[in-house]
Amino acid sequence: MCYLLDTLPVCQDFNRQLCNRLTCKFVHLQEGCGVEVREMRVTVCRDAARGQCSRRQCKFYHIPIALPPASHMQTCANP
Ligand SMILES: [Zn+2]
Ligand SMILES: [Zn+2]
Repeated sequence: MCYLLDTLPVCQDFNRQLCNRLTCKFVHLQEGCGVEVREMRVTVCRDAARGQCSRRQCKFYHIPIALPPASHMQTCANP
């Protein structure tokens, strides 16, 4: 069973462009993405988690698909 949290905290540092954590545990929202923020938290889209979200402009947060970090980490090591 995969249990998903209903809401996730938004990264306050990222909003002020101060977050440079490679693996931040808070949500980084892109400007104009249309995701609804309530009390500095976003609601997780359960449809997207199942790969079935068909909303064109979804107000819920879509959790990014986790990619194998190997190549990504190499690129980030040499800025
Ligand atoms: Zn962050
Ligand atoms: Zn969605």
